[in-house]
Amino acid sequence: MSMESPAQTARADTDPIVEVRNLQTAFYTDKEVIRAVDGVSFDLTPGETVGIVGESGSGKSVTARSMMGLVDNPGVILAGSSIRFTHLETVREFATKFSRRTVDVEELEAEHDVRSLLERPGIDVTPAQLGYDSVESMTIADLLAAGYGDQLGLTDGDDCVFITEQSSGEVVDGFIEITRLEGKPQRAMRGGKIAMVFQDPLTSLNPVYTVGNQIKEALRLHQDLSGRAATKEAISLLEAVGIPDSRRRVAEYPHQFSGGMRQRAVIAMALACDPEVLICDEPTTALDVTIQAQILELLEELQEKRDLAIMFITHDMGVIAEVADRVNVMYAGETVETADVHTLFANPKHPYTEGLLQSIPGRQEGDRLQTIEGNVPTPNEPPTFCRFAPRCPKAFESCDSVHPVSVPVESGVDDHTAACLLYPEDVSEIDRIERHSETQSTEGEH
Ligand code: SF4
Repeated sequence: MSMESPAQTARADTDPIVEVRNLQTAFYTDKEVIRAVDGVSFDLTPGETVGIVGESGSGKSVTARSMMGLVDNPGVILAGSSIRFTHLETVREFATKFSRRTVDVEELEAEHDVRSLLERPGIDVTPAQLGYDSVESMTIADLLAAGYGDQLGLTDGDDCVFITEQSSGEVVDGFIEITRLEGKPQRAMRGGKIAMVFQDPLTSLNPVYTVGNQIKEALRLHQDLSGRAATKEAISLLEAVGIPDSRRRVAEYPHQFSGGMRQRAVIAMALACDPEVLICDEPTTALDVTIQAQILELLEELQEKRDLAIMFITHDMGVIAEVADRVNVMYAGETVETADVHTLFANPKHPYTEGLLQSIPGRQEGDRLQTIEGNVPTPNEPPTFCRFAPRCPKAFESCDSVHPVSVPVESGVDDHTAACLLYPEDVSEIDRIERHSETQSTEGEH
């Protein structure tokens, strides 16, 4: 947790710790390019849970894996994507540890301006691609984070720490660009600063080592603890996640734990790294309803104690209602609606969100969301139409020829957006279509 006084940092406690902008992750096969995540943007803030919801194939898990640096061949995070980790203590730590990969952005800003950089031959990125309305809103840091610094000769391929403000020689603001991490900085970030809990605890647990040894390994790697101190901490972590008789349990193997206990042990392993951000990918899907409720309660308690930023992925709107503060609804690689959880449930706007809410079953055990007719399409082309159109009960003519972009559902309501040609709803249909078409034409090809 940050111990900075206001004078030492340019960021407030309520500022996001992770800023995802225009994330595009594609998979190249012999036959086609699958745009699994296509222009996704959102923030994670300490103490808050962002729920990511959608059917299988909507891009939720690829978004998480992109944040963890776990996208394997043939997957690629495309240029123009940015995932900034802004936790000041970590930025300072990385700037010291990885000084050769650290860039002083203030220096570059004194020497260059964005407009002239964008006019250089071969640079065809547009402000819209980086999520801005105009060149004036962009900074050199945006170009660097999105990978264009290499093309412009401002950064080397492995630069990943960007210092944007210093005072008396001390870093006051900056970020680590997660999409540029590899090697040691990536290992330090993955697990150490951002940890992930998967659906199947057996994916994370090695059957041949005791649970205690696996937690102690995480403590050794990320907190430099070993011997008795590590054993003591492993026991107290098992206690913290509600495992009874943890002194005995610490010496047991994963097969001696029940499903719910294993997921608790995995959460203890994630916490052993003392992360700032916890990504939970369907962590309760394989558990029965009672154990699911206990795990959700545990995550809430841990978040409160540790001020964790949590990203919670699920296909289950019932779970979202319980855990999320804000919700991003994803469909075919795109975010189609975002709002705070109460607004989303009380006043959903995107036809897909409406469908998801209407398909919440009687909350009986084992129900899944299967009542929207048809399937999520494979997003294998740049979008030139609404990807939900073939399943949408409200589709009209323009839906087949205009790609909707995220807009406020009503003019001036910036924290509730929908990517649908029906919005903003206080604007005439002609103006709405024009607005979506204009933004689409400045997006260009990725
Ligand atoms: S843009 Fe058209 S097809 Fe797409 S969700 Fe909105 S109304 Fe439905």
